[in-house]
Amino acid sequence: MRRCLRSLLCLALASVASWALAETPSVPLPKALLITGLGTSDPEHPKHILAHEFYNDEIVRALEGTAQVTVTENLSSLNAQELSSYDLILNNSFLLEPSPEQLAALFQFIEEGGAYVALHAGLESFVNSPRYVRMMGGRLVGHSPPKSFTVETFEDGFGIERTTPWAHPIARGVKPFETHDERYVVQTNTDELEVIARAESHPIVWWRPWHNGAALAFTLGHARESTQNAGYRQLLNNSVKWLLGYPLIAQPELPVFANDIGVAEDVLDLRKLTSIRGNTPVDFTLKNDRPDLVVTSIDESRRLDLRIYAGRKGTAKIAITAKSAHGLVNSVELAVEVEQRGTGNLAHYYGVSAHSSSNEPRYLTASPSLVIDGDKITRWSSNYVDAAWIYLDLGDSYSLDRVRLLWDGAFAAQYELQLSSDARSWKIVASREGQGATEEIRFPPSRGRYVRLLANKRATRYGYSLHEFEVYAARD
Ligand SMILES: [Zn+2]
Repeated sequence: MRRCLRSLLCLALASVASWALAETPSVPLPKALLITGLGTSDPEHPKHILAHEFYNDEIVRALEGTAQVTVTENLSSLNAQELSSYDLILNNSFLLEPSPEQLAALFQFIEEGGAYVALHAGLESFVNSPRYVRMMGGRLVGHSPPKSFTVETFEDGFGIERTTPWAHPIARGVKPFETHDERYVVQTNTDELEVIARAESHPIVWWRPWHNGAALAFTLGHARESTQNAGYRQLLNNSVKWLLGYPLIAQPELPVFANDIGVAEDVLDLRKLTSIRGNTPVDFTLKNDRPDLVVTSIDESRRLDLRIYAGRKGTAKIAITAKSAHGLVNSVELAVEVEQRGTGNLAHYYGVSAHSSSNEPRYLTASPSLVIDGDKITRWSSNYVDAAWIYLDLGDSYSLDRVRLLWDGAFAAQYELQLSSDARSWKIVASREGQGATEEIRFPPSRGRYVRLLANKRATRYGYSLHEFEVYAARD
């Protein structure tokens, strides 16, 4: 399989193969060789005092269903004949020193399209070869003691205006996570290195191309609990999947659908949601556990369309499966929630839009729609001025009597809530001295399609920062 990765001829052959495999759900798992061991185990070794644990059982478990892993302590496995049956080499060792012949076999494997991952202390193995250090894109120069820190999986723009978030395909859909681990510090030696995850502004997962193959450094994994961390497992799995040519699908989220809308077209762009190494073609299929509630289909531009049965309620679980030209498959589950119009938080329904007077120029906060996405982590923030507003178009007129504001740290010290039927003339339904955190504002039932938060005075020197803007209908 691996020699096919970069060759056009092989791609053509692979598409024939995938047609032939159409009836079988998937191809056999790719094969990985995990090299482990301690280079200092000999009591005569000058660095005998240096040791490390490897937790290979955790690595194998983390990659279950992704790759069939063979663990070896025998460096003689690094020979062309044995390596030809593998797609990936994982190095989870410490201070191992392969022979020149073994290194040559390793380089040949990678240069012909193989994938290579150095795990944690594995970055300090094989460093008897300067060429190997060059390939890895950097050399470990130190690390923190084991401690808690956040793994950052995307770049927040550092306050610079960006229109789209940047995250490597491997990290897309991996939320930043807390872990307890050693935080490595590297001296990089190339600008071909691409950072996949960072911690405390240091690269901690990165990759670089090497001839036709790829070398990836995954510096996390000092202790057993570090390797059991859910974020670690997702990031490692995604890294291996991406290197092996699996399609990666970012976790999609949808608003609630009212059960009187009929058809909703283009609710998700499956191609935008999916990444695959080399941008090779991907086939999508859907599996819907509630065909009595919603009919799902994929249009010719690979967008998801929904047809919702009138008057029914519930949640459909849709499995989206992506299949590579090589037959490697990956799935995510999407929840499609169907509700009676007017029920629950009206701001989180399909078709609702948000509009603002200004947006702070950071992509993470630059869209007012982040207050209606049902996600209590994302937020909208305004420019640093006292007079600012954000309003929601509910798409329909309702009798309303309650709003909930989920503020970030920067809240409004004085604000008004207003309703409108045309987004031009506004009626004040509540006026408040803001307290921040979660504020629930009740007011006498009043009709409106548009709901506006008009902020007059800031509580901090920043702008206004709001996680969610929830709106509820009056109950009779
Ligand atoms: Zn360690």
